[in-house]
Amino acid sequence: MLRRAGSSLRHFLLERKSSAGYSLCSREAKMSRPVQARRLEGIDKNIWVEFVKLAATYSKVNLGQGFPDFPAPDFLQEALKRALSEGTHMLHQYTRAFGHPPLVKALAQIFEKVLGRELDPMTNVMVTVGAYQALFCCFQAFVDEGDEVIAIEPFFDCYEPMVKMAGGTPVFVPLRPKAPKDGKLMSSADWQLDPAELASKFSERTKAIVLNSPNNPLGKVFSRGELELIADLCVKHDVLCISDEVYEWLVYDGKEHIRIASLPGMWDRTVTIGSAGKTFSATGWKVGWTVGPDRLLQHVRTVHQNSVYHCATIAQEAVAQGFQRELTLYGKPESYFVQLPRTLQQKRDLLIQSLVAVGIKPIVPEGTYFLVADISEFKSDVPEVPNSDEPYDCRFVKWMVKNKGLAAIPLSTFYSEAHKNNYPNFIRFCFAKEEATLKAANDILQKWKKEKTSS
Ligand code: PMP
Repeated sequence: MLRRAGSSLRHFLLERKSSAGYSLCSREAKMSRPVQARRLEGIDKNIWVEFVKLAATYSKVNLGQGFPDFPAPDFLQEALKRALSEGTHMLHQYTRAFGHPPLVKALAQIFEKVLGRELDPMTNVMVTVGAYQALFCCFQAFVDEGDEVIAIEPFFDCYEPMVKMAGGTPVFVPLRPKAPKDGKLMSSADWQLDPAELASKFSERTKAIVLNSPNNPLGKVFSRGELELIADLCVKHDVLCISDEVYEWLVYDGKEHIRIASLPGMWDRTVTIGSAGKTFSATGWKVGWTVGPDRLLQHVRTVHQNSVYHCATIAQEAVAQGFQRELTLYGKPESYFVQLPRTLQQKRDLLIQSLVAVGIKPIVPEGTYFLVADISEFKSDVPEVPNSDEPYDCRFVKWMVKNKGLAAIPLSTFYSEAHKNNYPNFIRFCFAKEEATLKAANDILQKWKKEKTSS
């Protein structure tokens, strides 16, 4: 056909082929215009992809990503089996978009207790596909082009890209470490906000602050005083609070988890986010929720309705049964909300012992699955590369997983680009693991230490 076309047409078509990159012969039409939406610029690379792959390829012991390697409790597994075998076949079909009715009712009952206020399950609670989707819905619902959102560093890393995707600008304020007293181990409580620095980040452009207590990665449980400081600034500047409390039941040493939505003036401006994944040790189920006033949740519902619609009915049914059980056992020793933190505290202490024994200094977490530790003792094995673009902790973790088979996550992952090199000697371990896994990690560390001292 090209041969039959006149020479000027042939010339024109050949030129189009080379400039636009499409081939007439193969009928493949490669697009020459940018395919990526502008809002993805700068957020299309994610360090987790690399570290999860490295752990899958090389690790013998994976203390990296935050998930338990022990089973979800029997009562939850039984609830899922019951839903499948005894439940109505309608549990395989769509349910209410904003949350399966038994689950929103159970969540409302639990949160009435912990927030000390009456809740309407239909308007004050919405079920999401994990806490991840709850966060996404909130940023999409509240953040406009040009709005600023304050995030406290170190922070759960998806906050930054989610704010940017909504057109907003993240503004970072750090937790700053204080030296511990009298040779004691550092605690996550030693990482604190500077009140003046925090206040300086609020302006008329600030739309929201994203709070995460207990905090991933440090395990910090914000004190009443710290929460009051944040709450006062939110009220003063008319700012929303997106409160990520996925580790709400995982607090140790008798610490109390205080919900910022329960402080004066905060209910009306706070969306509280939670996760059945963390609450019931079933991260793969991806059931999460938002709790808040209808005036905020109505907009979160709009995003949810027009994106995922709802999360798996059968998983919601089983989680509802899990919460119903917890409601009957609330505050009793048999409650999973009492037993899980007790078990995890023992696991935390086991990992602390292993680390201290080889000279790695842990920051003792007050909550969560995680522990951040100072690996300076082992630095000589992994030489620094002057002027490298890669933060040192990333190089260290890569070397450790490849050479020692132990996976962890660099602390810099939880910092903004500008602050990634602030704490180069710290890495995060997850201790929500079987005792055997923690012992295997201990063996790796002991052997490594022995090799170092004998060389
Ligand atoms: N927030 C924080 C602080 C988390 O650590 C996680 C999970 N690692 C999530 C939200 C997401 O939770 P989910 O798995 O329920 O989506």
